[in-house]
Amino acid sequence: MAILKVARLGHPVLRQQAEPVVPTDIHSAGVQQFIDDMIETMREYDGAGLAANQVHVPRQIAVIEVGKNPRYPDAPEVPLTVVINPVVTPLTDETEDGWEGCLSVPDMRGVVPRYMAVRLEYLDREGNAISLVAKDFFARVIQHETDHLNGIVYVDRIRDMRTLSHIAEWQRYWLGVREQSD
Ligand SMILES: [Zn+2]
Repeated sequence: MAILKVARLGHPVLRQQAEPVVPTDIHSAGVQQFIDDMIETMREYDGAGLAANQVHVPRQIAVIEVGKNPRYPDAPEVPLTVVINPVVTPLTDETEDGWEGCLSVPDMRGVVPRYMAVRLEYLDREGNAISLVAKDFFARVIQHETDHLNGIVYVDRIRDMRTLSHIAEWQRYWLGVREQSD
């Protein structure tokens, strides 16, 4: 396994539309190895998720996992989920504001509105078609990662840019000041 280099904001790969994975390729050694490398990279950098664009590969693959994460100490746990060719459909018009960060925008946080419940349809790493309903923080992470696959970064969705903060200032001036929803 290998830890992959993460593209940072400004790199054009983050603005590319990721290409779908041909389902018959999912079982290939190359795709399986890439998925393992994405998981290792996400864990190395304490990400809640990682999209393939972020490691310079514009294909529709993302990994999500929230365990005990020092970057999101209050987040509910989400089991390791590998999503290929995801389609996200909002199940409500209701949105919720919550703090987000991104491995491609190091050491920053900003408040982003996200749908509170979405349907997620995708292929897993065995090629099985999965459909599930995700709510709250899981729904937020899914929307963040699938945005990446469409060339969208969370900073594009910040409504009030005055919330955009460096981590140290965020901890000092925002935590406890504004209720955290993630
Ligand atoms: Zn991100």
